[in-house]
Amino acid sequence: MLEKVLRDPVHGYIRVENEIIYQLINTAEFQRLRRIKQLGTSSFVFHGAEHSRFSHCLGVYHIAKTITDYFTEHGFIFWNPEENLVTQCAALLHDVGHGAYSHTFEGLFGTDHEAITREIILSELTEVGRILRQVSPDFPAQVASVISHDYPNPQVTALISSQIDADRMDYLLRDAYFTGAVYGNFDIMRILQFITPTEHGIAFRENGMHAVEDYLVSRYQMYQQVYFHPASRAVVVALKLLLKRAKDLFPENRAYFEATSPHLVPFFENASTLSDYLQLDDGVMAAYFQAWGASSDAILAELAQNVVNRHLLKSVKLADTTTDILSATHALIPNASYFSDVQNSFDLPYDDYNPETERTPIEILTADGKLTELSTLSPLVRALTGEKFGDSRFYFPKEMLQNTDFMTRMRDFT
Ligand code: ZN
Repeated sequence: MLEKVLRDPVHGYIRVENEIIYQLINTAEFQRLRRIKQLGTSSFVFHGAEHSRFSHCLGVYHIAKTITDYFTEHGFIFWNPEENLVTQCAALLHDVGHGAYSHTFEGLFGTDHEAITREIILSELTEVGRILRQVSPDFPAQVASVISHDYPNPQVTALISSQIDADRMDYLLRDAYFTGAVYGNFDIMRILQFITPTEHGIAFRENGMHAVEDYLVSRYQMYQQVYFHPASRAVVVALKLLLKRAKDLFPENRAYFEATSPHLVPFFENASTLSDYLQLDDGVMAAYFQAWGASSDAILAELAQNVVNRHLLKSVKLADTTTDILSATHALIPNASYFSDVQNSFDLPYDDYNPETERTPIEILTADGKLTELSTLSPLVRALTGEKFGDSRFYFPKEMLQNTDFMTRMRDFT
């Protein structure tokens, strides 16, 4: 039997015992994830956060494997061990379509990392697709349907994509570890000890409830303290403005972009293929930004240097009362459409039975065999239920702090 043991700083040892999983890890598409940072812009703020999508995907696989092995060993009636491989493959591949600075890139070029993930899995041209087809001709479609949430078995879908799934459990622990944040930690061993398959998905036995509570509080804190950090969002804004300038310049400066940033050309032309997408990673983009820093277009050069040298925009929090005065303030900034922006970051830490969000609530299996929604048992979770947390910020150049008119207006924001 195959047994490869990978050392992981978060989970200790990750065991690969299935030939298909091992081959998937060794594909070009999966190895590409080593070259994409898990947290993208957050590494500009938390300098330890250099970890990759590769390590996160292995971590999600490990959690899914731990759970499916546990379900199999205990012979739960609502778990079919034949689902183990599809669950583990979906866990491993769930982010294989992520690209460099995915969310910013998607907003400007209309790509969709979830759709690309499915394309990589289903394609006859990818190494991933070829390996999955070794299991059975329809196996790639089964794995893809877990990721698009329409796999028929609700237990499998819940493990990969729900309010407490293998993906979230790994990224919270991993991002906390690499950023150095202490509040992202929770007792995953205890959660995995009390997880149980039910007729309609998964639940947690009562003794694991406080660990689940702690997971939700950790999630809330990681969003507020790490993911929504104002300086890391300043990098998101800087990247967006830089790529927007490049895209706007492209039609009149085609030869320049073909020379300095050839792999972005199909995206500027809105005619990219999967193989174009797979050429891009953080390193390729970083080299392009360096080249643009020497551009004869002063705006492109300045925006590129701002990203490369981490010269960040300043920001102020917007409120309902200040949104009205925003356009007048905006007008004071030179080339404002390339040097200022509004950035919104909101998150719903947990939702119960809300038909609008269609989220499946977390359920606790009590000693009498009944399933009860978590927030009805936990006052702590009740405080986080159904409420969005976050803010909307207006970003502007630091030099504006020297502008008297601008600063007079700024007083109304604070
Ligand atoms: Zn993920």
